[in-house]
Amino acid sequence: MTIQDNLRQIQLQIAAACARAGRDPASVRLVAVAKLKPASLIEEAAAAGQRLFGESYVQEFTAKAEQVRSAVEWHFIGALQTNKVKYLRGKVRLIHSVDRLSLAQEIDRQWRRQGAIADILLQVNLGEEESKSGTEEAALVDLARQVAQLPNLRIRGLMTLPPWFEVAEEVRPFFRRLRQLAEELQRLAIPGVDMAELSMGMSHDFEIAIEEGATLVRVGTAIFGQRE
Ligand SMILES: *Cc1c(COP(=O)(O)O)cnc(C)c1O
Repeated sequence: MTIQDNLRQIQLQIAAACARAGRDPASVRLVAVAKLKPASLIEEAAAAGQRLFGESYVQEFTAKAEQVRSAVEWHFIGALQTNKVKYLRGKVRLIHSVDRLSLAQEIDRQWRRQGAIADILLQVNLGEEESKSGTEEAALVDLARQVAQLPNLRIRGLMTLPPWFEVAEEVRPFFRRLRQLAEELQRLAIPGVDMAELSMGMSHDFEIAIEEGATLVRVGTAIFGQRE
């Protein structure tokens, strides 16, 4: 299977999941995750029509972004240290992984320097797993209210990285919960908060995530193969 075959297969699965859920396939975007894979594979995916790419490591991202010649859109999806935000400025269209005020403040500060507005998602840790980043569910509304006050930043939705289950179906309640949280936040009508995007679902479970409302699915292995 080539990357082109994999992408075609995934687009079919996305369309089928949308049909099951009565959704417009245009409401779901595929974020291709090529972490630990070379820029040449990103070019291969881009040649097959893939436009949107997600990266998890700042250093790897900056190195690869320089090598990729195709016009692509980058999202940052990984754990982010505050002192590395400056390397993303002006290069990424959406940061999925904002989980604390100090990080949001630094993004706001960096984007302000170039007179731009940063689009971000708030990452929620729904599994209460120590090892995963993300704000606790109970702290989400407060965080959203504080982050929303930053002038050069816009909250566009929520992201989650749920616990891993052998049986993918078991993850469904987590995706459903993220969607409920987004609906609750939307109802609060906080200025600067707009719950347009739900970033959830990976290779193993993106179809379930789509059935539960995902608008951004982050898929790596199913496109580029296993990582070393
Ligand atoms: C690596 C990664 C993915 C992709 O995972 P696959 O299982 O390879 O599809 C998605 N989201 C995040 C945050 C990741 O770090």
